[in-house]
Amino acid sequence: MSDKYDVIVIGAGPAGYHAAIRCAQLGMSTACIDKSLNEDGDPVLGGTCLNWGCIPSKALLDISHKFAEAQHGLPDVGVKTGKVSIDVARMMEKKTEVVKKLTGGIPQLFKGNGVTSLPGTGKLLAARQVEYTPHEGKAKVLQAEHVIIAAGSVPVDIPPAPVDGKHIVDSTGALSFDSVPKRLGVIGAGIIGLELGSVWNRLGSEVVLLEALDEFLPMADERIGKDAMKIFQKQGLDIRLGCRVTGAEVKNRKVQVAYKDKDGEQTLEFDKLIVAVGRRPYTEGLLSPDSGVNLDERGYLYVNDLCATDAPNVYAVGDVVRGPMLAHKGMEEGIMVAERIAGQKPLVNYETVPSVIYTHPEVAWVGQTEQQLKASGEAYNVGTFPFSVNGRALAANDTDGMVKILADADSDRILGVHVLGPQASELIAQAVIAMEFDASAEDLGLTMFAHPTLSEAVHEAALGVAGHAIHMVNRKKKK
Ligand code: FAD
Ligand code: NAD
Repeated sequence: MSDKYDVIVIGAGPAGYHAAIRCAQLGMSTACIDKSLNEDGDPVLGGTCLNWGCIPSKALLDISHKFAEAQHGLPDVGVKTGKVSIDVARMMEKKTEVVKKLTGGIPQLFKGNGVTSLPGTGKLLAARQVEYTPHEGKAKVLQAEHVIIAAGSVPVDIPPAPVDGKHIVDSTGALSFDSVPKRLGVIGAGIIGLELGSVWNRLGSEVVLLEALDEFLPMADERIGKDAMKIFQKQGLDIRLGCRVTGAEVKNRKVQVAYKDKDGEQTLEFDKLIVAVGRRPYTEGLLSPDSGVNLDERGYLYVNDLCATDAPNVYAVGDVVRGPMLAHKGMEEGIMVAERIAGQKPLVNYETVPSVIYTHPEVAWVGQTEQQLKASGEAYNVGTFPFSVNGRALAANDTDGMVKILADADSDRILGVHVLGPQASELIAQAVIAMEFDASAEDLGLTMFAHPTLSEAVHEAALGVAGHAIHMVNRKKKK
């Protein structure tokens, strides 16, 4: 192991490993320190996303969706199945296989690109020195020309519901239940609450989500949020808004939850309780007092638009800095920083970061919501198109939801795209590309889409902005 590197990256989650690989591709000697261990106690790369986040949750979402389809969807279209049951142990095994396949690929990518992997803990000292403590053995001080911090985030705890890892769990625990809980409580009806609540609801749990706010999904477009809530309630999710949890106690292997809502004090009993009230930046033991890196008022590492910290040649990317806690946002920041260190001038376009909730139907959006445009006073036009009249959605028996496009009233530039529907996570990519190239709704309307596809709903919504949608009667009629 060398003591000097062009770049040392702390953290090998999506933000850190993208940064490290790109630095090495650009010819810099690069080391990446990561302290994560897998369930067997072995060092593992990929951070939250690959091990305890995006990937395992999507494996469970896809498997539980297949289960729900086999139970309810297939008989509805004439496919006869026998009695459908779930083998939770096999489902978890499959999830682990997917995680291992992906996490096992990163060491190969590091090797192939020449990134030195250093399993253990990194701490930033003054003047771009990094103290590296391997899992076994003595600490050593390494020197770098540039340091990129990508230490990620951890779940937020709340005092009334302390996580015990058995009955009261965070998202990591909720990805590994060994059986389907009969009654499942979730504190927080945000992204994790909805995704993991859906997994266990599909497999047979009675799920109650206790959300502090009076509004459901306030970050989504209001109309989409309202429609989504109705659909999720129909699927069996009991979503209760305006609930302040005051206590959670484990008694006789059940969790008693006390909360207050508009009607006063309430209690509920669950077999398991998931606490999913947000995540916070992880900075424990990361910085020495003289590192020169500062935190902002919310505990994130302070960075400018280019992800530079207050310390010269020290950058920070991903969940540990401001902005949405999304894997793809961190990946783009990691690549931008690597290329800037190499003298190139890329930027991250924070206006086109897509968000997706992987329920069914999925919820996906990019850009501004209608309520944001109203609040800013910007004049806009709206085009919507429901999946209920889209040929492919009908053929697939998957017709819930709609596409909604918001465009500037003068320039017709697309300002926001919101999709509630099947494969919204894939459909939103077309909107991101269009917005990245500053497209107008007319540009999208003039583009040819294959028939029959779900994408045609995007096309029709774009045509609808000017009142030209073909497969629905337009409210506003324009020439
Ligand atoms: P992380 O992935 O958290 O990685 C940070 C790494 O740094 C970790 O391995 C950590 O051990 C290591 N580290 C920290 N400090 C040190 C140190 N001092 N020394 C050495 N190593 C250190 N996002 C999406 O975009 N799509 C999704 O579908 C999605 N699903 C999710 C589902 C769940 C259940 C959860 C919890 C999150 C999900 N996310 C999703 C969010 C996503 O996982 C994060 O945004 C992403 O992992 C952040 O990447 P990161 O590289 O910044 O940090
Ligand atoms: P979140 O911010 O999406 O939702 C947390 C919810 O909990 C909010 O609705 C909030 O109002 C509520 N809440 C907060 N305190 C509460 C309390 N005391 N009682 C009841 N409700 C309370 O956070 P999350 O769902 O924990 O997810 C964390 C992060 O992980 C998110 O920021 C998200 O970006 C990321 N993530 C992304 C995906 C994805 O991209 N599909 C999936 C999972 C997680």
